[in-house]
Amino acid sequence: MSTSIVTFPPSESAVRVRMMNPGAVMTVKAESFVKPVQKGHELLNLTCTAYLIEHESSGKKVMFDLGVRKDWWNLSPVIHKRLGSTIPGLRVDTDVPEILKNNGISLDSISSVIWSHYHWDHVGDMSLFPHSTEIVVGAGFKDSTVGPGYPENEDSPLRSSDFKERHLNVIDFTKSPSEIGGFAAHDFFGDGSFYILGDDVPGTHTPGHCLGHMCGLARTTGGKNSTFLLLGGDICHFVGDLRPNKSYPLPDPIPNDVLDKDSFFPTPCPCSIFTDHHPILSDDTDVEERRTTPWYQVSDHEKSAYVDPPAAQSSVDKLVGFERCPNVLICLSHDSGLLRYLPTLNSDPKSDLNSWRKNNWKEETRWEWLNELPRDGKPGRKPIVEGLWRDGKPSDRT
Ligand SMILES: [Zn+2]
Repeated sequence: MSTSIVTFPPSESAVRVRMMNPGAVMTVKAESFVKPVQKGHELLNLTCTAYLIEHESSGKKVMFDLGVRKDWWNLSPVIHKRLGSTIPGLRVDTDVPEILKNNGISLDSISSVIWSHYHWDHVGDMSLFPHSTEIVVGAGFKDSTVGPGYPENEDSPLRSSDFKERHLNVIDFTKSPSEIGGFAAHDFFGDGSFYILGDDVPGTHTPGHCLGHMCGLARTTGGKNSTFLLLGGDICHFVGDLRPNKSYPLPDPIPNDVLDKDSFFPTPCPCSIFTDHHPILSDDTDVEERRTTPWYQVSDHEKSAYVDPPAAQSSVDKLVGFERCPNVLICLSHDSGLLRYLPTLNSDPKSDLNSWRKNNWKEETRWEWLNELPRDGKPGRKPIVEGLWRDGKPSDRT
């Protein structure tokens, strides 16, 4: 196994990272996100994560993504009308401002909110934050279909209250001197503790998921044996786009504690339950290749959620380079395995993710997504939510 797939700049500085569950669950049509769609996995179950990043020496606190606003019925009309069709299920039980306040962290203390991108399930409700909180966005944000927001612009995916009278800190990666793992890297605090990675290469603007999409790279322990969390946003929406891979082949048998309690799974459970139905590989592919080839690629369907599917796939291929580094834990926004195994600020506010390597969390969280997959042609997990829910009750679209 190679240990130096990505080279990281040295630094002694680290940030503290705590994960939040912003309380949103949704189902989306798989055809827009992955290819090829596997029979029995036509809907993706998506949970959300958000991250509180603390930079001790400056005292700054920064959020990376906010999840969905709790009053989703106030989303801009363009997005609202997709609920119930492209997004058949949605429930939002809490939100980041509520979780912060419940834990004695005032919204005044958040200096920046970084939007991995401007989509509705990441931007939360910025109007709840004081005007002193800036928004950090990727280059191209202003040129995209965003501004001005709704209601001034009927067709905007954002409300103007999401960003008006607020400093917009637009990261210009063309000025970023460094590159990490093939992504342009902006050193956010100037000491190597936290980078914003452009889903771009320096000097160009290559959209993948959407214009200006960015990832975070937080150094969780500094020094010679630095460790990192890669906050992936929506660089892809399902971890099966990254796994299995050559560094982490699908284990055989699948460890018992990975799989949901389901009488379908034999004990021990051979990995052939999944690998015999690898969606990308043909029937004559050997077992080793089935155990080391990522399950899906990003969708290039006419309704793909990726504006430039080849560029998005190339970003995911670069991400696999990070995934293969033992000192990097990838945290995709919609990876439900993170919420199942790792502490959140919601329920365990004192715990952060910084000791992830010592705690073996990369191993623990690696295969949880298998539960979503069809097994021997039968559907995987049931939908995480059915229909739209408002204030804890099923609701129509209004
Ligand atoms: Zn998303």
